[in-house]
Amino acid sequence: MSFALFNLPFNIASVLQQQNIKKPYPIQEQAIPAILKGDDVLGIAPTGSGKTLSYVIPALTQLSVYADTRARHPQVLIMVPTRELALQVQEVVKLFVDPNRYQSKTVAAYGGTSMNPQMKAMTETKVLIATPGRLLDLVESNAVKLEGLKMLVIDEADKLLNSGFKEEIDKILKLIPLKCQKILFSATLSPEVQHLKKLILNQPLTIQITAQPKKVAQIKQEAFSVSPERKGPLLRYLIKEKAMVPALVFTSSIKEADKVADKLTKNGVPAQAVHSKKSQHARNTALEDFKQGETKVLVTTDLLSRGIDIEALAYVINYELPRSPKDYIHRVGRTGRADHSGVAVSLISPEEEKHFEVIQKKMNAVVELVPTADIELHGF
Ligand code: ADP
Ligand code: MG
Repeated sequence: MSFALFNLPFNIASVLQQQNIKKPYPIQEQAIPAILKGDDVLGIAPTGSGKTLSYVIPALTQLSVYADTRARHPQVLIMVPTRELALQVQEVVKLFVDPNRYQSKTVAAYGGTSMNPQMKAMTETKVLIATPGRLLDLVESNAVKLEGLKMLVIDEADKLLNSGFKEEIDKILKLIPLKCQKILFSATLSPEVQHLKKLILNQPLTIQITAQPKKVAQIKQEAFSVSPERKGPLLRYLIKEKAMVPALVFTSSIKEADKVADKLTKNGVPAQAVHSKKSQHARNTALEDFKQGETKVLVTTDLLSRGIDIEALAYVINYELPRSPKDYIHRVGRTGRADHSGVAVSLISPEEEKHFEVIQKKMNAVVELVPTADIELHGF
C-alpha cells in the first residue's frame, strides 16, 4: 500500500515524498488510520520499525483540527525517556511543520540544561516533546498547562517505566484531561507497559509487530577474538586499516569511553565520547558533529543504544559487550537502519566468550569468532 491511501494533507504528503518515504511500514499501516480516527493505540514494535512516523504523521495531521490558540497550551505532548530522543523526535516533527505558523511551533524540553529558553518557547508551542522530569518542572513553574492537551504520546514506554520515571509519570498522568487521546509505543510489552495500558488507554487498538528485529538479521555481524590488552590497538587497526567508519563504538564504562576516544584522536582519527557525565551541550554537539561526518567515531556507553537513529551508520563496534543481550540487540540495531546495510563488530576477550555465546543464543544467531593473534598491531 502507499501513504496516499491515508488521504494525508498536502503539506505532510509532500514532505514524505521529499524524504523518499513511499510505503508505510507495518506498524504505520495500522497505527496511522487508527490514530487519525481518534482511537487510543498501543503499538509494540521492535527498534527501527518506524514508530516515530506512526504517531508524528497523525498527530500533525490533527493539529489544524485541534486549533487551540491559548498561550502555553500545547495540544500534542510526546513523552520520551532521554534528551537525545527528545531532540531526535523534534527533528522528525520539524520536517513536517512550517516554523512560521503559530499552530505548529514545537519545543523539545529536557533536563540538564537551563530551563529559561524552554520556558520562553513554551508560550507558543503546540507540539511539546519532553522528558518527564523537566516537564513537571515546567508545569510547576506555570510555564506550561496540560489541560488543553488533545493527544498524549508516550514513546519508548518500556524504557520510560524502567528508568525510574514512574513517579513523575503518575504525576503527569493526573494532569492530562480525560478526553485526551492516548497513545503508547514501546519496543517490548513489559508488565509495566501492560499495566499502563490498562490504566490509561480507553478501548485501545493494540498493534503488535512481532517480527524478530528483521533489521538485526539483516545486519552483518562479525566478532574478533582478542586479548584485553590488544583491544585498543585492534580497534584502531580496524578503523584505520579496514576503514570501519563511520562507527559508533560502545564501551561498558564512562571512563573507558573517554579513554578510547582520546586514544583514537591521538592516533589521528577524529573521535568524541558521549555519556552521562558530559554536559547536554557537549552531547548535542558531539552527536551533531558525528551526523555531519566531522567526527568519524563516536564512543559511548549504553546511553545511546536505544532510540537514536543515525542515518547510514555503517559500523557499530562493541569494544566491550553489554551485560544484557537486549542491550546488544539495541546497540546492533543502531546500524542497518531502514534501507541501509550495516555491520556490527564485537571485540571479544577470552573472559567475554561465554557471555557472547549467551547473547548469540538469545538472538538465534551464530557469529564466528575470528582469531586476531596474527595481526601485526605494532604502531596502532
Ligand atoms: P523506531 O522508533 O521504531 O525505532 P524510527 O521511527 O526511528 O524507528 O525509524 C527508523 C528509521 O526508519 C528512520 O530512519 C526512519 O526515517 C525510517 N523510516 C520510517 N518509516 C519509514 C518508511 N515508511 N519508509 C522508509 N523509511 C522509513
Ligand atoms: Mg523510536
